Amino acid sequence: MTKKIINLLSSAAVVFAAGAVLSPSRADAKLRVVASIETLADLAREVGGGRIDIEALSRGYQDPHFVQAKPSLVLTLNRADALLYVGLDLEVGWLPPLVQQSRNSKIQTGQAGNIDCSSAITVRDIPNIPADQLRAMGDVHPMGNPHYWIPPDNALAIVRMLAKRFTALDPAGGPEFEKRAVDFAARLRKKVEEWNKRAAPLRGEKLVTYHKSWSYVATWLGLVEVGYIEPKPGIPPTANHTAQLIQLMKQQGVKLIVLENFYPNSLANIIGRETGARVLSLPSDVGASTAIHTYSDLIDAIVSALCAAK
Ligand SMILES: [Zn+2]
Repeated sequence: MTKKIINLLSSAAVVFAAGAVLSPSRADAKLRVVASIETLADLAREVGGGRIDIEALSRGYQDPHFVQAKPSLVLTLNRADALLYVGLDLEVGWLPPLVQQSRNSKIQTGQAGNIDCSSAITVRDIPNIPADQLRAMGDVHPMGNPHYWIPPDNALAIVRMLAKRFTALDPAGGPEFEKRAVDFAARLRKKVEEWNKRAAPLRGEKLVTYHKSWSYVATWLGLVEVGYIEPKPGIPPTANHTAQLIQLMKQQGVKLIVLENFYPNSLANIIGRETGARVLSLPSDVGASTAIHTYSDLIDAIVSALCAAK
């Protein structure tokens, strides 16, 4: 055997060995799953259990519209077998460039490892104005409302969809993914009974929110949205809009203002003082505070805070 051929063979062996180490299709390898937000990571953990390694790209105390695109996230994405994201343009400002820079074909749009979780739910607030036109106006919800992951029906729909998508990526794990999704549904059913019972007195309660991000929650709990501190999703408040909102709140007797805990609450507090409304700074994602480790913790915290404000 010539030296050249030996060299060729040994480099092929190195490539093969590297491939074996990196390939997710090895029987004992875990599926490497990356999620854009912590709630999706937690739902993925519910489905994947010990068969997946899961990492979130953002923290629950950050505004998911505006996450800093750190270079380390490119490396995380480069190694991923699957990427879960909220979609509907929620992460459009930071995630697509990272996915592109990752040079990972498995997670590019259209691939089995590219999982848009909005495909699992019924999207609300779909505008009848073309998305490009809305984007140009600064509206950050041009595809419909992307803040859908809190109501239990939607969490369950995401979990069921993930069981199917993970099975496509790891067929041997299929029965386990399905079983875990069924177990999650059973546990969730009990929690939903408790949440609905606790939140029953909130039905019909009028509220104003900072961002148009509580609409799915309002529908679930029977709250009535009267207005938003932002004139349009992502557009900063103006003096004129704030004055009109205060007038509307007084007319309608709105006694509750809700905002995510990453928004500044100074303006909400001013509006609260003017109208006598209580300002509630709520978690909206797993990891929004140190006590919120799971999806269930998140909903417990939201329901408890809303009930305490009543
Ligand atoms: Zn939004």
